[in-house]
Amino acid sequence: MGKSTTINGRPLKPATLMMGHGFDPTLSEGSLKPPIFLTSTFAFPSAAEGKRHFEGITGKRPGGADGLVYSRFNAPNQEILEDRLAIWDGAESALSFSSGMTAICVLMLTYCSQGDVIVHSGPLYAASEGFVAKWLSKFGIRYLDFPAGAAREEIATVLEQAKAMAAEAGGKVAMIYLESPANPTNALVDVEAVKAARDDVLDPDCPIAIDNTFLGPLWARPLDQGADIVVYSLTKYVGGHSDLVAGSIAGATRWMTPVRMLRNTMGGICDPNTAWMLLRSLETVELRMQRAGENAAKVCAWLQGHPKVAGLGYLGMISDPCQQDIYRRHCKGAGSTFSLLLKGGEAECFRFLDALRIAKLAVSLGGTETLASHPASMTHLSVPDARKAELGISDNLVRISIGIEDADDLIADFEQALEAV
Ligand SMILES: *Cc1c(COP(=O)(O)O)cnc(C)c1O
Repeated sequence: MGKSTTINGRPLKPATLMMGHGFDPTLSEGSLKPPIFLTSTFAFPSAAEGKRHFEGITGKRPGGADGLVYSRFNAPNQEILEDRLAIWDGAESALSFSSGMTAICVLMLTYCSQGDVIVHSGPLYAASEGFVAKWLSKFGIRYLDFPAGAAREEIATVLEQAKAMAAEAGGKVAMIYLESPANPTNALVDVEAVKAARDDVLDPDCPIAIDNTFLGPLWARPLDQGADIVVYSLTKYVGGHSDLVAGSIAGATRWMTPVRMLRNTMGGICDPNTAWMLLRSLETVELRMQRAGENAAKVCAWLQGHPKVAGLGYLGMISDPCQQDIYRRHCKGAGSTFSLLLKGGEAECFRFLDALRIAKLAVSLGGTETLASHPASMTHLSVPDARKAELGISDNLVRISIGIEDADDLIADFEQALEAV
């Protein structure tokens, strides 16, 4: 497979590599685009090679399989996808999954054992938080969390507590799991501070994983700030058309190999059709995210001064100096997902949402179309009121994901919807 990523020593940019990296048309009848390989199994050229492949799959020989064996382990469309995903984050390798949640669950199951403690930033995507609190606890794995905006000393204190808690149960601190920005508050996690605290308190065998779904791959590259593993729901910006569900993780091969072993056992790899769709999506991910980001900046600039607007949780308009400092060190753009605080409560938000004509009333984010939802009564309905208040999920908060429509049309839509409030 074509792997050249430079020309005359010049490293090629991801936007260029998305068109052909990892695929050699001459191996597929000259087909310019990869065919979809609908097969469950792959013929071995010889029995000896079949044996060698299985030595790689089972871990008898390090380095993984050097050929294709069976589609639960890997297949051409998924391998091309994984090669291209790794490029965006500057990772050594990537693994694809059937959903973001499959990626997250398989990752956590790989690294956590009985008696271990996970430390995570809060809040997390509700299903991620639920997996830790409800399912991992069944196996004697406990957790501690710290708020997304926490400083180094506060993080170090929580890591010390986690270390003591794990020692008492005969385990270890197995993973630091982050999500930045937090949803729907948009609070950023200081990954550099987390890494410094980890290096002070724990040994480097405790990986730092981070869910980069909201800002990746264009606006944040957390591996550059010291995270070890980056996690995606590809369903959002990467897939980008609200027409598929998939996930991935990426990082150094040493972190990926154990996860690959569990994926080989459990399954959960992305299917070939979805992988092919994602290859198409990756060709335009930079264009789409740039346009969505520009649109969001225009829409927020307009919303900011509106008399019915009480506030905006948009990374392009941070007022807190500590958050602004993290933004400057970690982000290349403000994204296109933000929260809009209306004057009033649920009734005003519902009138606004029901009046929208271009923006669709739906959860999810990162698609070509603009979406709006009401977290307090939808995605976060089951969160207890006290926790909602702590997280800033108020009744007057609308979550908006801006798409790639015409920005002035979007502004006109928000204008008439605000009139209806
Ligand atoms: C959507 C989402 C997930 C879960 O991804 P699925 O593809 O729906 O399984 C995880 N984390 C974040 C931040 C998300 O937005």
